[in-house]
Amino acid sequence: MPTLICVPIFVQDEPQAAADALAARDSGADLVEFRIDGFFTGAQGPQGALDELQVKAILRLVAQSPLPCIVTCRAAAEAGSGGLNSGGVGGYTDDEMARVSLYERLGTASSASETRGHAADAGTLREHPPRYLDFEYASYTRSANIKQKINLAVTHPAQVRSDVSTGLILSTHDFEGRPADLTRRVLRMQAEPAASVVKFAFRARSQRDNLEVFDLLRDNRDSGGKPMIGLAMGEFGLMSRVLAPKFGGFLTFASLRRAGATAPGQPTVRDLLDGYRFRSIRPSTKVFGVVGWPVSQSLGPLVHNAGFEAIGFDGVYLPIPIAIDEHDAEKTYLSFKATLSVLVEHPHLDLSGLSVTMPFKEHLVRWYRERSGHSETLDEATTAIGAANTLAIHPDRSTSLTNTDVHAVQRLLLKAFGGENLANRTIVVLGAGGAGRAAAWACLTLGATVLIANRTLARAEKLAGELNAAHGRKNSGKAAPVAMTDLPVQSSVHGIINCTPMGMSGHAAQKADVIQLEEIAGLADDAVIFETVYRPLETPLLRKAKELGQTKPLRIIDGVSMFVEQAAAQFQGWTDHPATVQLFDRISREALSV
Ligand code: NAP
Repeated sequence: MPTLICVPIFVQDEPQAAADALAARDSGADLVEFRIDGFFTGAQGPQGALDELQVKAILRLVAQSPLPCIVTCRAAAEAGSGGLNSGGVGGYTDDEMARVSLYERLGTASSASETRGHAADAGTLREHPPRYLDFEYASYTRSANIKQKINLAVTHPAQVRSDVSTGLILSTHDFEGRPADLTRRVLRMQAEPAASVVKFAFRARSQRDNLEVFDLLRDNRDSGGKPMIGLAMGEFGLMSRVLAPKFGGFLTFASLRRAGATAPGQPTVRDLLDGYRFRSIRPSTKVFGVVGWPVSQSLGPLVHNAGFEAIGFDGVYLPIPIAIDEHDAEKTYLSFKATLSVLVEHPHLDLSGLSVTMPFKEHLVRWYRERSGHSETLDEATTAIGAANTLAIHPDRSTSLTNTDVHAVQRLLLKAFGGENLANRTIVVLGAGGAGRAAAWACLTLGATVLIANRTLARAEKLAGELNAAHGRKNSGKAAPVAMTDLPVQSSVHGIINCTPMGMSGHAAQKADVIQLEEIAGLADDAVIFETVYRPLETPLLRKAKELGQTKPLRIIDGVSMFVEQAAAQFQGWTDHPATVQLFDRISREALSV
């Protein structure tokens, strides 16, 4: 059975909730969940009767819902705090028996309309029971009385009433992390005869928690268990939401609007359908992703998923954040290593390729060497640079590394210089970090003289030394360090590549002084000005280059071109399909210009 998409609607106001249900249907969802804990107060009249106005409003929502619905009045104990999964609704705190009576009333709604005539009160609508009621396992098992009352409202083998059709979702939630007794809880919920669907959700503390979810879902599917919903919440849990169809999840939750996302890591319906091609995810789907910190802004998922769609490839590409420890580099590496190892080794995830970005490019090489017991050979570029941005995982779980940043710089420079070798050309590389290393190596391999200018001169000196040592046997191409404050004003410069975050939106270096192009006396008239930063599309360096371009025929390469080239090379490596550079370029520019 295909995995359904359900939109949670946090009911505060009946007309708005009804409109949201319509919008959910229009956006392509299959189900809605009316979360009524912020609406139903449990207020009771003198004889203990429920507040009819509230009950009728809920019944109207159910009857008018354009999609099958779940109704949930979540107990505060399992609603989370700080809006983690509650959309700012703190959960129900009022009288428990009023909540149970409401469930009873909802589950038996159609018969109530016939015997008590509520249909007339609700306008011309007949009352209608929800498709599902969601009740927490902990509340359900609190007393025999509660269990009995809930059982009266839902369909199950011992139900004597033939007019009850609402299914019970028995659920358990943990907002701290994976409960130690998760498997036991799941088995107990499964064993409850009244449960139609079993749901577990817990906060993911790392990517590894997603794998626990997948193992439970998959075992359940393979053993023919009841439909199951399994979710890891929070920013590390996105994978569990997107890959639910791969492992047989009954449904996944998605929000209607980005601003209204009820949980970090919860995608919108359109993200799922258009971005992640949710309807085409199946057990055989190969998984790809971008590993870094942070990765929420990455263009990778946009372009690679569109590429898979364009060539009909059975794959999905996800952001895969791995948290860093700002004060402890070794801890950061160990966390990266542990996460990467379990993802790569998982027998059913089918992880097939990763883009690796800041700050893990060097960690990737170390991980690779350690994993292979230092026996596997790296390509020349990766060895020289000591950093890689692409991992391919083959069906036998063996892995290979490449650095497509190098490939991208080589291709773009060759194109800019009309396919010429760069011997007798001088290129200034700004920065000695991962991108600077890749760019400098690419220039050397094309035969250029490379001046590495870096804020920390010692790093530039070290890099120049290492690259010269690695490249020494070649005839042309040599690297030399230069202080940022002492950029060449006399020697000829045929190209400048910015490999620092200077000018990058949201970065501490956004306002840093950009290189004064006009002060570089030796700047060739047709020099190449190459930017790697792509947020914003037009950086201060590119703006300056355009200004100067009024009087000199400068050739400009922007950060998107770099991004697209390195991503297209990854795509080709993973899929064996000629890269879709134009598609990637169009999608990236569209995304960056909004
Ligand atoms: P990295 O390894 O952290 O290196 C950062 C470099 O920038 C270092 O050389 C650092 O100098 C320098 N730097 C940092 N802050 C600075 C400031 N305020 N003023 C001057 N220099 C500063 O990062 P990376 O991986 O090389 O990435 C660098 C940039 O390249 C990023 O902005 C990234 O977006 C871009 N990039 C783009 C693509 C693409 O596909 N378009 C691909 C890769 C990278 P110190 O040595 O003194 O710290």
